[in-house]
Amino acid sequence: MNKAILPGSTIGIIGGGQLGQMMALSAKEMGYKVIILDPTANCPAAQVSDDQIVANYDDLEKLIALAKRCDVLTYEFENVDAETIAEVKKYTQVPQGTKALSITQNRILEKNFIEENDFRTVPHVVIKNIFEYHRAIEKLQAPVIIKTITGGYDGKGQILVTDPENVCFAEIEHLLMQGPCLVEKKINLKKEVSVVVSANSQGQTSVFPVIENIHRDNILHLSNCPAAISSKASQLIYQIGEKLAQNLELVGTMCIEFFISTDDEVFVNEIAPRPHNSGHLTIEACNVSQFEAHIRGVCNLAMPKVELLKSAVMVNLLGQHLLKAKEELPDHAGWHFHDYGKAEIKNNRKMGHITILTEKIEQEKQAIDKNLIWDV
Ligand code: ADP
Ligand code: MG
Repeated sequence: MNKAILPGSTIGIIGGGQLGQMMALSAKEMGYKVIILDPTANCPAAQVSDDQIVANYDDLEKLIALAKRCDVLTYEFENVDAETIAEVKKYTQVPQGTKALSITQNRILEKNFIEENDFRTVPHVVIKNIFEYHRAIEKLQAPVIIKTITGGYDGKGQILVTDPENVCFAEIEHLLMQGPCLVEKKINLKKEVSVVVSANSQGQTSVFPVIENIHRDNILHLSNCPAAISSKASQLIYQIGEKLAQNLELVGTMCIEFFISTDDEVFVNEIAPRPHNSGHLTIEACNVSQFEAHIRGVCNLAMPKVELLKSAVMVNLLGQHLLKAKEELPDHAGWHFHDYGKAEIKNNRKMGHITILTEKIEQEKQAIDKNLIWDV
């Protein structure tokens, strides 16, 4: 059994975006030292940490230099190379291991894993060329979504096919040039929800209450907790969360995304082996945040039973929203405002978020969507 890593020790985080920043804030609060590895100097996580190594994520020499300075190493995103992690493991503890990472960074392995655990995935077919694409369309029937197998996020690397008679084959060919793709039946969605689960290396877990999510242009827009779903659906979701955490040998925090169809079927969409955007509201709404739970997990501290202290709504601030939201902040006593401190403001880039604690979730969501800030 791994020993606990106590405050005063040094945690290395690969990746210095907002997830790394919020991990680092939790770690600093508890008294750990934090070193970030990220190619961008003064990245969001480095702004709240003790030190930064400026290097690319695949720079093995720099990763080893980081590992040598740390008591434990973690990562904030799933696109770290599993072989690189195996290499740096020679120099320090990497309790998250590589199983969850290597399964979840490949959509085919991920779907196979979910099915081996007897849970449902969206009907799908793997294709290697246009001929197989046509066969997939015959089998699944449009509308379908074509997805790259690795590297996608926020809807990147996806093509929606609504009318197969009217598609741009060059676009599909372009995706296929990167390797095999997945063709997925487009589900008629009633709701999208997610569950965050954290664990330590003794297998103790913290399961967070189910969160409901609204996407715009495939990017998360709003999350709220609790989710308005049946107790049958939420029980199934907790069961999935516990079982997948156990069989992925989870250490730290992960999040599972689900689709609930208009005929009330629950499908597992995908798994993120790290804290997740939908879980940001746990910072204010729960007795422990997904980030503190991540740090507790990788440091092998006891895992708390999660309680929702107050219902909450979270709204993302993208590049087009940030400046207007800041102008409005002085008039909103109830806004828990998070600006990640990214140097460059870009359209559709996640720049910050706001969490509002409220019992009136539906009214708050409507009020947010009436506000012109989010109307772009
Ligand atoms: P990403 O890795 O970009 O998050 P997802 O597979 O989660 O990829 O897709 C992003 C969003 O696109 C989902 O949250 C959902 O809103 C929509 N979407 C993706 N696949 C489907 C599907 N099969 N049916 C309906 N909506 C989908
Ligand atoms: Mg997703």
